[in-house]
Amino acid sequence: METADESAPTAPPGTARRTHGFTESVIRGMTRLARKHGAVNLAQGFPDFPAPDLIKREGQRAIADGINQYAITWGSDRLREAIAEHQDEHYGLDVDPDREITVACGATEAMASTFLALVNPGDEVVILEPFYENYGPDAELCGAEPVFVPLAEDRTIDLERLERAFGDQTRAVVLNTPNNPTGRVFDRREMEGVAELCRRHDAYVFTDEIYEHIWYEGEHRSMASLPGMRDRTVTVSGASKTFSITGWRIGWIVAPPEATDAIRKVHDFLTVGAPAPLQEGVAAGLEELGADYYERLEADYRRRREILHEALTAAGFRCSRPEGAYYVLADFSGVSDLPDDEFARWLTREVGVAPVPGSSFFSDPERGRDLVRFAFCKTEETLEKAAGRLASL
Ligand code: GLN
Repeated sequence: METADESAPTAPPGTARRTHGFTESVIRGMTRLARKHGAVNLAQGFPDFPAPDLIKREGQRAIADGINQYAITWGSDRLREAIAEHQDEHYGLDVDPDREITVACGATEAMASTFLALVNPGDEVVILEPFYENYGPDAELCGAEPVFVPLAEDRTIDLERLERAFGDQTRAVVLNTPNNPTGRVFDRREMEGVAELCRRHDAYVFTDEIYEHIWYEGEHRSMASLPGMRDRTVTVSGASKTFSITGWRIGWIVAPPEATDAIRKVHDFLTVGAPAPLQEGVAAGLEELGADYYERLEADYRRRREILHEALTAAGFRCSRPEGAYYVLADFSGVSDLPDDEFARWLTREVGVAPVPGSSFFSDPERGRDLVRFAFCKTEETLEKAAGRLASL
């Protein structure tokens, strides 16, 4: 049988135990399958439209001007200044670029460095599910125990259940808002509930805010801006989604000074630093793109959301409009009886539209058997093409 990527964890001899508990990325496996079959790739969340000219020009200028050697390990002065300015402007947070910001190779490295720097073997890390696939492996790579807490049926945070998951061993909770894959933008009550538990149990929040500028309903709040949370929040974000440059690998971490010191050490020995000329491009984006840019980004995504949501509903999927981020998690039980992974491969091969199997977002794969995730970070033309193909269902 054809597989996107062989998904059962394996323990080949001669490999380290820390790699045995998780599989390769299912999301990136689906991208390879989409390529093989010439399917419209609505699996991996990367835009197929251009980045802002200003950012591309500034990256090119930096290369031409000879910015070709390592930047400062924790990020160029210019980019860290621009990130600090951004945190102040959007969240009213006064962040010290010299002591509280680290630039990393994408939010993925940012989150991994955070885990490795702040979590001990044996600690527990609470992860809400469905979850973005990185957090479990991040926990396992540092020998920690992921503790999964399902969202309620209506995809709100079940604060009582969350409370039961916290204990003496809890080191951190991972919060991703706007959320991948559910599209939730967690509201004030949910955020404050999480914050209260972290204060009570002296735990960190590792907050993944990579979709901070992509939301349609409610309001995105930065966890660090909640009362009493600045000193126990590690904020991970980056340029990939905001500026449509997922391949540039520029992410960042905003954390209190002592946490930052540890994170910088891990980051230094993992990657030394993020690409120097590309940091210049991103700095220019943060400095010069203002409210117009962010409003346009949101309006464009709102239209794309409508196209995909309409196409999926018309084809018989059950799904709601996401409040934020750029994914629709859809129930396909009205369309097919196949399990999610087979359905995702069938849809890619036979219909020419690639989604991500729902089971990859759950600790117990059975909970995702009727679900697939579609990304709508694509041109309207690409989405219309996918809609045309889905109509054949
Ligand atoms: N965050 C994106 C997704 O969920 C891309 C993942 C990745 O490949 N890094 O699809």
